[in-house]
Amino acid sequence: MTGICDEFELWDLRIEVVGDQDGMVCNHKVGDYFELSGENLNFPDGQPFSIYALAALLPLLPAKQRMTDMNDWMTTDAEVACPDPYCTARFRIIRTGKTTFRHHETTGLPPGEAGNE
Ligand SMILES: [Zn+2]
Repeated sequence: MTGICDEFELWDLRIEVVGDQDGMVCNHKVGDYFELSGENLNFPDGQPFSIYALAALLPLLPAKQRMTDMNDWMTTDAEVACPDPYCTARFRIIRTGKTTFRHHETTGLPPGEAGNE
């Protein structure tokens, strides 16, 4: 499948710990972060990240990677609370840039097949 323009773009994301450090009861530190490009999470060397916070974030990240309507709340809302109700940490999802992917390199289906019609 060469010569066919089957490109699409996804936002690259940086997810960063923000909020009041004194109120954080988990092991978060303001400024800790990880990045997502395509399907790959990247963490800075040696920096831990809570599995509970990661579990809260994961369902939102694929939606935030995609181009969204300017009126969609997914476009404007970018902070997720720590799932521990006693923790003040917030995780800010920042769209940092776009990466171009090719359909045929990411799936076995032909372009344009929604699979649900
Ligand atoms: Zn927390």
